[in-house]
Amino acid sequence: MLHPPDEHNRRLLQNVHPSGWVNPEPKGRYHLVVIGAGTAGLVTAAAAAGLGARVALVERHLMGGDCLNVGCVPSKAIIRAARAWHEAREAHRIFGGPPVVERGDFGAVMERLRQLRADLSSGDSVHRFRDLGVDVFLGEGRFVGPTVVEIGGKRLEFRRAVVATGGRPDAPKIPGLAAAGYLTNETIFSLTALPPRLLVIGAGPVGCELAQAFARLGSQVTVIDRGEHAMPREDADAAGVVERAMERDGVVFRRRASIIRVERSGGERLIVLQGTNGEAPVRGDEILVAAGRVPNVEGLDLEAAGIAYDRAGVRVNDRLRTTNRRVYAAGDICSRFRFTHAADALARIVVQNALFHGRARASRLIIPWTTYTSPELAHVGMYEKDARGAGLPVDTLTIPMHQVDRAVLDGETEGFLRVHLKKGTDRILGATLVAEHAGEMISEISLAMTAGLGLGRIGATIHPYPTQAEVFRKAADAWRRKKLTPMVKRLLQLFFRFLG
Ligand SMILES: Cc1cc2nc3c(=O)[nH]c(=O)nc-3n(C[C@H](O)[C@H](O)[C@H](O)COP(=O)(O)OP(=O)(O)OC[C@H]3O[C@@H](n4cnc5c(N)ncnc54)[C@H](O)[C@@H]3O)c2cc1C
Repeated sequence: MLHPPDEHNRRLLQNVHPSGWVNPEPKGRYHLVVIGAGTAGLVTAAAAAGLGARVALVERHLMGGDCLNVGCVPSKAIIRAARAWHEAREAHRIFGGPPVVERGDFGAVMERLRQLRADLSSGDSVHRFRDLGVDVFLGEGRFVGPTVVEIGGKRLEFRRAVVATGGRPDAPKIPGLAAAGYLTNETIFSLTALPPRLLVIGAGPVGCELAQAFARLGSQVTVIDRGEHAMPREDADAAGVVERAMERDGVVFRRRASIIRVERSGGERLIVLQGTNGEAPVRGDEILVAAGRVPNVEGLDLEAAGIAYDRAGVRVNDRLRTTNRRVYAAGDICSRFRFTHAADALARIVVQNALFHGRARASRLIIPWTTYTSPELAHVGMYEKDARGAGLPVDTLTIPMHQVDRAVLDGETEGFLRVHLKKGTDRILGATLVAEHAGEMISEISLAMTAGLGLGRIGATIHPYPTQAEVFRKAADAWRRKKLTPMVKRLLQLFFRFLG
């Protein structure tokens, strides 16, 4: 997985899975045994140990899990480089900057990624966790009873345990795909040479982020998806803005596609689609499969501990307890919010509930998310369809980014803010923001929703001019204008007539 074996990857491994690591001897019964050292497991273990609990942490592969090694960190490093290349090329057209004609150095982009990933890995390292007082066990953990986990022949007895084993990329059952060979998020960050033509199966967030980044870095990218639109869970208008931006960057979408088979001939890979008049092959050099995720439930012997699971993962109640009352779960293994910050928030709930008989509920969390395309697509709370489904009448306000001065000055006018309010009030039920820095900006809405502040309070907050965050104040102004009923307007007219 960690290719190439250069100094950066060696440094990473030294932190997240050092060769020669000797597992400690188990120390009696643990207050908490955590299986999986991704974000959910690391946060759980660090918080519990910090509070004085005796904690064991079990990781079969790399500390840091997906986020550090093959997820957020490497993908955002590539995306940043791709944006820099794109902006350098666009600088001439938009800002009269010097023309850029040279091709970039993809190898340098990937080396920067590896270097930064290794730099960030110290925070997740086995040594750091050992120094926090956590017993770190490297190897595959599995339940051998309702209160015992086994790892490498050692028995870890527990008062409480946490399953935090995350997920992995799903492998669609497409004839010929496995034989032709393909990349996933677990292998694409090991590339050292840019594939001239990249075929991406799946137009979800991971597929879109990487498709756009590779297109900006110079690959000819085709995204193949069976759906009508990219990111089908998102607001359709918002996803449409992102799709059009990706198309301008050269990404070709094959929508409503039905894949018949995949073939390999020499160095070339073919995805054969069902066309209107027979078979329609699409050619590429590499295939990236980004077609969903499956939970890591295998090998854990969950049955031995009476822990129920299904295709979505480990089943938990709102307090994140599994069907074994001593075992909890956190992160991608049990949540539909498959994000690092969600794994972090769930882990904090687990620590409270598992160790202190807390009653924190996962359903109370307000969890935003962002797809880091350009423009970014961020969302928090309900979509309009959710509110209607729940029988909540809504007022929806949409403010285009081209009405925001700073967005105009930055040349970043694509996108909009859409806020859903409980009808007749300023209570925010949800919001979607498509904007170049939407991920940075959405927290203002998340904060308001978490603190129970209405859109009116956002409008009363002074935003520095010119900033793109003024879009929130504009939404509040629009709400205020809407609130003025014809009756109030008439009364105001009478008042000013009276003043003369
Ligand atoms: C390409 C990509 C980009 C992403 N970008 C973002 C982003 O920008 N922002 C964001 O918020 N989220 C992002 N995510 C999602 C994020 O990576 C996950 O939500 C997060 O990693 C979930 O953490 P986790 O701890 O639940 O699981 P994981 O990170 O998957 O960790 C689970 C760990 O458990 C270990 N394990 C499994 N089984 C066993 C066993 N039997 N014994 C011992 N160990 C075991 C695994 O080896 C793994 O290390 C991205 C995901 C991908 C794939």
